[in-house]
Amino acid sequence: MSSNAQPSPVLPRAGVLGGGQLGRMLSLAGYPLGIRLRHIGGPDDTSAGEVAEEVKAGYDDRETLARFANGLNVVTYESENIPLETAEFLAQRVSLQPPIAALAASQDRLHEKRFFESVGVQTAPYAQVDSIENLNRALARIGTPAILKTRRFGYDGKGQAVIRDEAHAADALHQLGGTNLILEGFVRFERELSIIAVRSTNGETRFYPLVENHHEAGILRLSIAPAPELTPVLQQQGETIARRVLEQLDYAGVLAIELFQAGDQLLANEMAPRVHNSGHWTIEGATVSQFENHLRAILGLPLGETDAIGYSAMVNVIGTIPALAAVLAFPEAHLHLYGKQPRANRKLGHITVRGDDPVRVRATAEKLREIVRT
Ligand code: AMP
Repeated sequence: MSSNAQPSPVLPRAGVLGGGQLGRMLSLAGYPLGIRLRHIGGPDDTSAGEVAEEVKAGYDDRETLARFANGLNVVTYESENIPLETAEFLAQRVSLQPPIAALAASQDRLHEKRFFESVGVQTAPYAQVDSIENLNRALARIGTPAILKTRRFGYDGKGQAVIRDEAHAADALHQLGGTNLILEGFVRFERELSIIAVRSTNGETRFYPLVENHHEAGILRLSIAPAPELTPVLQQQGETIARRVLEQLDYAGVLAIELFQAGDQLLANEMAPRVHNSGHWTIEGATVSQFENHLRAILGLPLGETDAIGYSAMVNVIGTIPALAAVLAFPEAHLHLYGKQPRANRKLGHITVRGDDPVRVRATAEKLREIVRT
């Protein structure tokens, strides 16, 4: 190198715990920026390894974890079910974002509700349940209908039972294992929304517009962005909720909070300290996607714009892969497949429709929903 040559810039490297579709889309977002990701995937993960470096290892394999962390600027994760010991082990070696406190709060529905309460974010009424005695006491206070949920490892509507009247309390308790449960009051919501927020290690914070989400059998099927009839007041309410969580945790990365809208009130249901299915529309539908902004945020880089470009609707591809030509026959549709083997109720991909006319976007999304159903 001659004496006046500039040293070549060193591009950051990030690690991801998880080799599923969220990790894959993080890797794809890093590519244009020259940010390469390295994943730790489980035996069933096939998504991230198709497009990025992947190490197959269990989260208790400390030797591999230490080697994995070597040379990385930051480690992040694509699931909130990472063992806390794994996160703590890595955090001693390399910056781990979002912070462990966010992971801990989101792993347990009871801790999560208490955390929301501690930062002044409203939720459904709730109670800890570990026996038929305290379930009956909780039902007397909260009333029926109510939902009994496992505190940990519940996802996509699994680990839940609706208690319509007190006579069915014992059955529901038995069905869910009898202990480590939470009872929640049944919220008669008008609709389900989510907010995707992003905060960088230097505190810069941005919010995507609220999204309206439609579930079937507990699984997200359709997201509409921005949420129809989104008022500035509602958006502000969502941002206030997210900001309280982000600041309390000194958070870095993308955060998703699932919300119930009841009247003009937003209640927090749960949070995910990661990129989120209801933010997939941002790849084509926002100036900078949730995936790119997550990487920017955890690496302390300036954040990109989070505003929506026109209107988007995202349809999940679940269980079976549709004929490509049938989907691509809609010229405004963007298909993303994750490289996964079809299996009942498995998220295999998604389709985002974007356009300038919200009615047309929605109509096309409904047609695509029919196609992915068959
Ligand atoms: P969750 O796993 O907590 O996201 O719940 C899955 C779905 O069940 C939610 O998307 C809601 O449609 C419904 N649900 C969960 N909790 C409640 C509640 N407290 N009141 C009414 N519906 C609920």
